[in-house]
Amino acid sequence: MLVARGVTVAIKGKTLLQDVDLSLSPGQVLAIVGPNGAGKSTLLKAMTGERKTTGGEIELDGRALWHWTTAALASRRAVLAQSTEVVFPFLVSEIVTLGIRRNLTAAEQYRLVQRALVAVDMSTMSDRVYGTLSGGEKQRVQLGRVLAQVWSHGCTYLMLDEPTSSLDLSHQLLILRLAREHALSGGGVLMILHDLNLASMAADEIVALKDGNRIASGAPVDVMTDDLIAALYGVRVQVRGVPDGPFLLPQTARLPG
Ligand code: ADP
Ligand code: MG
Repeated sequence: MLVARGVTVAIKGKTLLQDVDLSLSPGQVLAIVGPNGAGKSTLLKAMTGERKTTGGEIELDGRALWHWTTAALASRRAVLAQSTEVVFPFLVSEIVTLGIRRNLTAAEQYRLVQRALVAVDMSTMSDRVYGTLSGGEKQRVQLGRVLAQVWSHGCTYLMLDEPTSSLDLSHQLLILRLAREHALSGGGVLMILHDLNLASMAADEIVALKDGNRIASGAPVDVMTDDLIAALYGVRVQVRGVPDGPFLLPQTARLPG
């Protein structure tokens, strides 16, 4: 399990996260939602160890996060950041190779890279220069790198910060399917998503953050309510239900003001 208890992050007197609890179990897909600036990325970074906390505890598989070495962490969890700068003219295949465990043979590395590129629907672009790709193509390559890490190290936890933000509909759905497959194979997935319909389709549990506070959590059917969406975003929309879960209709919005 990956567990955050009472996590607080403050920088220069500004509180970015306040006493937040969250736990991610193997087999689970968890979505974090909330407005811009709510603290979602800060929470994800705290849970990966990238961001120092000012209060609370984070544990990975029963041990405090700070006990883990960087190498040990890389074999337990893989992380897709909200944005990734690549300054050198790397090829797509080279970016994906960065995720792979070093002590594999060249043939094993090659097979894993190809498998990752197929998984993210980028197999025809493995020799392209990364910098020449579209935003959505870059995002899929980065996810391919993360999958290569998961598969070569056997990572349990997959942590994705807005993995669908630049993607078209079919690739958004592809990411949700990859997330579910990882959970079905015994992994845990934590994803930050802005699209509430995708979150409610994809997640077993949704955690809603606002102004650094966790204001709701639970199954999509319990969290996705008109009132919660109004509290989060200041917009009233109607949430409807289908047998597979709740969905919202932005067309019904009454904008503030
Ligand atoms: P989001 O929910 O959009 O991912 P973030 O977690 O990135 O939000 O940021 C939460 C808030 O903290 C934002 O208002 C952001 O501007 C602020 N913030 C993030 N990092 C820093 C920093 N290093 N110094 C000051 N403010 C920061
Ligand atoms: Mg963010």
